[in-house]
Amino acid sequence: VFIAFEGGEGAGKTTQARLAAIWLRDHGYDVVTTHEPGATKIGMRLRAMLLDKQNTGLSARAETLLYAADRADHVANVIRPALERGAIVVSDRYVDSSLAYQGYGRGQPVDEIARINAWATGGLVPDLTVLLEVPAETGLGRLASPADRMESEPRDFHERVREGFRELADADPDRYLVVDASLPQQEISRIVQDRIREILPD
Ligand code: C5P
Ligand code: MG
Repeated sequence: VFIAFEGGEGAGKTTQARLAAIWLRDHGYDVVTTHEPGATKIGMRLRAMLLDKQNTGLSARAETLLYAADRADHVANVIRPALERGAIVVSDRYVDSSLAYQGYGRGQPVDEIARINAWATGGLVPDLTVLLEVPAETGLGRLASPADRMESEPRDFHERVREGFRELADADPDRYLVVDASLPQQEISRIVQDRIREILPD
């Protein structure tokens, strides 16, 4: 079982992924928690390159490919091996982040990014994608340490990202759970648990 958490800046993906993993472990499941970008050795170097604010005019296509390269390594070295041994994988971000940020956000063709990522991941699609939806400004305000984040992007960039996530979710309601990220943490995690319960093997 593969579960991805998606959403804009400061939506609480990391927190909710962690709460879901704790809950699953409490129920005896083998759980691997992971994140993008930067979950593997090479991935950490790619992350540093991608989030380097001094970065010397990284082109939009190159950015898309570097995220896809990070993801390819992540799938090959972390996600697939875990799924193959029967673990539940919970990832903080996955393909939809590229569709939302590089596609809707930066205006690159979403269908091309989808194709590149289908190839990069060998077609691995989550069983469930939880979209934590929060108004762009609320999310940015929530960030504790904006160090290597993208809060330098203009507000309309984040608004497009947010709209993008929403469109992706609306296009495939069976795979998505959309949750209002402004709800209390415990309430969100309960909603997430209820949905995860439906896709668990007995
Ligand atoms: O989720 P996390 O905070 O680790 O993401 C790091 C940064 O990478 C965020 O600022 C996010 O906006 C950016 N990002 C991106 N495109 C992606 C994934 C993440 O711009 N596909
Ligand atoms: Mg996070």
